Amino acid sequence: MRAHRTLLIRLPSGVCNVDYINRLMALTNLAYRGYEVWIPDLPKEVQYQLYSFKNFKGSLVFGAKPKGWFARAWVPLKTFRIYQDDSKKGDPNAPIVLDFKSGVIRLRKVCKNEPRYVVEVPMPKWVVGRISEGGDIKFARVGLKDNEPYLALTAEREVEPYQPSGYILAVDVNSWKYGIAWGLIRSGKLVTWRAEGPNTLLINTLYHQAVDRERMIGKLRRIGYGDSMKASRVRGQAKSRRSRIYRITRDKAYFLAGKLVRKALKYKALLVIDNMTEESRKELLEEKLPSDVVKLLMSNLKRFVHQLETLAQWYGVPYRFRRLYSTVCPVCGSKLVQEDDRVMVCGNCGFKAPRDMVPMYWALKLQLSTEDG
Ligand SMILES: [Zn+2]
Repeated sequence: MRAHRTLLIRLPSGVCNVDYINRLMALTNLAYRGYEVWIPDLPKEVQYQLYSFKNFKGSLVFGAKPKGWFARAWVPLKTFRIYQDDSKKGDPNAPIVLDFKSGVIRLRKVCKNEPRYVVEVPMPKWVVGRISEGGDIKFARVGLKDNEPYLALTAEREVEPYQPSGYILAVDVNSWKYGIAWGLIRSGKLVTWRAEGPNTLLINTLYHQAVDRERMIGKLRRIGYGDSMKASRVRGQAKSRRSRIYRITRDKAYFLAGKLVRKALKYKALLVIDNMTEESRKELLEEKLPSDVVKLLMSNLKRFVHQLETLAQWYGVPYRFRRLYSTVCPVCGSKLVQEDDRVMVCGNCGFKAPRDMVPMYWALKLQLSTEDG
């Protein structure tokens, strides 16, 4: 199986011409649609290699399919790799040179429409790490994100998932309020179980600080001071608090995905993921939380699942997606009733467990059924 991981590197906008990259992106969009257009004042080498990518249409190399005629597609580029031991791979004329000997990445002819224009950026540690894990970076892409130039490096690795040892690592994706629940299961027993998430007290504090400031902006606007220095300062404070909450959940998402994949590797476990977050969203709405709070508590969960899947593929961890319910009885299938302290009880068979642990019983059941079969 071929696994991929991508890193975005922001290019210094002073040395990269945004208009030029824009034109290259428009050309890529046309190439994507099967049009071969030769533009006289753009470097032939870049155009030539664009059309040599045609067979890769729809693949990772080209990236996501541009949505419309005027959508900008990232420009796929070949790479030339020079390794520490002087060995080399790829096309020596490729526009992107990964020079591990000098620890730099060179971009040729893709940052400015000048024949000998070269931009050098330091080699990120990430790249060295992926190479040391047996990966290779055959392709790169250049493009704009929020009108800033970026280089995207895609590492590729041939990896076979290991045979699970009998352990199951079950991961139930919840809102950040109750955290992501995971359990390690072996021979029908729950070995360890935890629910982990960010510091919700801090999120709560930042949220209330943001709301207070937004109220103050409203007041200032009503008395005609909406454009004052003070209003703009307070607006900045409110914005920075909201984006800090977003960063907290994002960092936690990356941290937890890494931690769980390392745990799966350690036990050679089968990773079972429940990524249906609708139940969690419903629970938060039932608690009558404001919709923007719900949004914050659900932010970056998709990113978490994506990172978990990417890392599992990269390190050869076998995984599957399964529904692990928290409101359905794992014994008899009846609907569970929630009591105080989020304890779930079955009125039919008497099953009783904390809400975040119910999915682990479903995972236990799953293990028994895979052992039978
Ligand atoms: Zn029951």
